[in-house]
Amino acid sequence: MLERIVLECYGRKVSECSEAELYHALLTLVQRKAQGKESKGKKKKLYYISAEFLIGKLLSNNLINLGIYEEVKEELEKAGKSLAALEEYEPEPSLGNGGLGRLAACFLDSIATLGLPGDGVGLNYHYGLFRQEFRKRIQYEQPNPWMEKDSWLLKSERRFQVSFGRFDVEATMYDILVTGYDNITNRLHLFDLDSVDESIVGKGIDFDKNDIKKNLTLFLYPDDSDDKGRLLRVYQQYFMVSCGAQLILAEAKERGSNLHDLADYVAVQINDTHPSMVIPELIRLLTDEGISFEEAVQIVTNTCAYTNHTILAEALEKWPLAFIKEVAPAIVPIIKKLDEIVKERYTDEKVAIIDKDDRVHMAHMDIHFGHSVNGVAHLHTEILKNSELNDFYQLYPEKFNNKTNGITFRRWLLHCNPALTQLLEETIGDGFKKDAGELEKLTAYKEDEKVLNRLVAIKKENKEKLASYLEETQGIRLLPEAIYDIQIKRLHEYKRQQLNALYAIHKYREIKSGKIPKRPIVMIFGAKAAPAYTIAKDIIHLILCLQRLIEKDREVRKYLQVVMVENYNVTKAEKLIPACDISEQISLASKEASGTGNMKFMLNGAVTLGTEDGANVEIHELVGDDNIYVFGEDSDTVIARYERGDYCSKDYYEKNPDLKEAVDFIVSKKMLRIGNKEMLTRLYNELLNKDWFMTFPDYPAYVEAKERAYADYEDTKAWAQKMLVNIAKAGFFSSDRTIEQYNHDIWHLS
Ligand SMILES: *Cc1c(COP(=O)(O)O)cnc(C)c1O
Repeated sequence: MLERIVLECYGRKVSECSEAELYHALLTLVQRKAQGKESKGKKKKLYYISAEFLIGKLLSNNLINLGIYEEVKEELEKAGKSLAALEEYEPEPSLGNGGLGRLAACFLDSIATLGLPGDGVGLNYHYGLFRQEFRKRIQYEQPNPWMEKDSWLLKSERRFQVSFGRFDVEATMYDILVTGYDNITNRLHLFDLDSVDESIVGKGIDFDKNDIKKNLTLFLYPDDSDDKGRLLRVYQQYFMVSCGAQLILAEAKERGSNLHDLADYVAVQINDTHPSMVIPELIRLLTDEGISFEEAVQIVTNTCAYTNHTILAEALEKWPLAFIKEVAPAIVPIIKKLDEIVKERYTDEKVAIIDKDDRVHMAHMDIHFGHSVNGVAHLHTEILKNSELNDFYQLYPEKFNNKTNGITFRRWLLHCNPALTQLLEETIGDGFKKDAGELEKLTAYKEDEKVLNRLVAIKKENKEKLASYLEETQGIRLLPEAIYDIQIKRLHEYKRQQLNALYAIHKYREIKSGKIPKRPIVMIFGAKAAPAYTIAKDIIHLILCLQRLIEKDREVRKYLQVVMVENYNVTKAEKLIPACDISEQISLASKEASGTGNMKFMLNGAVTLGTEDGANVEIHELVGDDNIYVFGEDSDTVIARYERGDYCSKDYYEKNPDLKEAVDFIVSKKMLRIGNKEMLTRLYNELLNKDWFMTFPDYPAYVEAKERAYADYEDTKAWAQKMLVNIAKAGFFSSDRTIEQYNHDIWHLS
């Protein structure tokens, strides 16, 4: 299969090609095959608009989805080449921060896999999210130039003009083909600014934030700690939705819409509030086409639906009207009119679009002028309805619905864990690949020693693979025979990596005092902190200092290891998750909307140690009390304490000597010898005087639950049964299920 393309491109044989040449040839092969499967002729089409698509590497996934993975792998092997080497060669496009962007990528996979016509709409960031580097145990940011090598981008014929307040720009649309598993091909449309100039990037990820004509599509969400950064973000958002709205209307017309009937031709899903300006932009374009304002509002409302991803107040976007006046003056009168409509209907200021400080509440616009509002896990949607968005729920109960997140099993099982996939095929057949619910069949093997032993053996192999990888890439040798306890996700105080770090200190001190654990413990972290998020960077520093402290301690290092993986991304996740025993999902209850990392771990046979938060609640219900470790205060308790406003971390610190010693250790002589005094002291003070995400109240229960999990791990059979139940019950978390629900309840694509 490859032979022909290689001959055509280079006039050579596979065995004579370089990695670069083979990679390029495979790109061409995949794109040709995929283009033959593009769906045409359907009336209604979905546009999933998102500022982030954390797609990860695409080569292997595309080969799997096109059904040619084995064939290509063998052909390469016969020629003395390896697919694994080409996978390493492929750069990862990091067009997202974390869960929200990864969700969008999983959704595109499932939409195509279900044969639904639906394209992604986003931005073509040249450097995406920064690459993380550790120097002196501190995070530094570097650009990630993923387009340097041959990339999956195809330049399209579509060109757009976007009018900002001060100037106009030209845009080009690039496409990435999205292959469905044994089904159709859709597209991810990424808009790029023609005048963007990579040469303005200076040291690290510094660049001139004023020079919009040159910087607009350079980076994903650059630093928004100051007004210049925030303004650039509004520019990015309007650029994205202006191009997106033009594309949507052009394609709808091509499919036969007269625009009055747009809602029969188009469904728009707004992924968080970043694309919210698509609502006034579509209204603007429709009225330009001669449709009355009232009718345009109705059409757009019937077309657009909004997904909420967070209840963290600081993450709900509110842009100063002055920003929008500067960036997109053409939509300001429309936003004002929409705000007037709302104010005529409802007197409550809390549901206004423009508040008394002249800030535009993006989510409010989405809720009033979209037909659906969904949360991303059962608990999250309940919190939206009952507290965060209760005022809106009172007005529009019919708009609110839940769509519990999911993940694509093609990437998070078939691709990342071939050994487990094979075991599943051999035991329950391969129906689970198309119908994830069939994983339940595995439950029948709960007493089957052979299957249980193989699960244990596969986990061991995956751990060994991870160990070799970390040794090769970071020079770290993981302790053999250890339990692997992993927390990988963006660094945020609400996710509470600091709680896990306090446990590491607790365990370190215990070992120092002579209490030796039954089995070595490897605690693995991976996390990027937003460049301007000081405390998050301090927490990374703390973890890296603990890593060093223990590495240098001859006594402790035999039993405990702390490892922070550098530059956590999708590729690293694919290697870490199959090797995990204990999945850390320890956010403060009520704060993690869903989580999707939790689902990936469960599917790969890790047991969750977590709070009753986000989708953990649903995991708990599915696997039952015996197959998960749940700890900590529940969301009602937490929400009530925030409402009372009487949390005082010092009270907990004073009353619990073990906690006090762990916290004090952060600024102990030992730590200050290794770390940066300013950073460690700042973190210590933050915990002692604020601890906004309430790590201290949950600390004793966390330590207890973790010890219980470690003790249970020693009963290999019982542990393997927990693994098996987790895998068997993971089917619910297939994004195929999630997408079927979106389609059934919101999009109504045929
Ligand atoms: C799945 C994933 C996430 C989301 O993880 P959570 O634990 O749900 O926050 C973030 N980053 C990457 C690279 C992922 O693959």
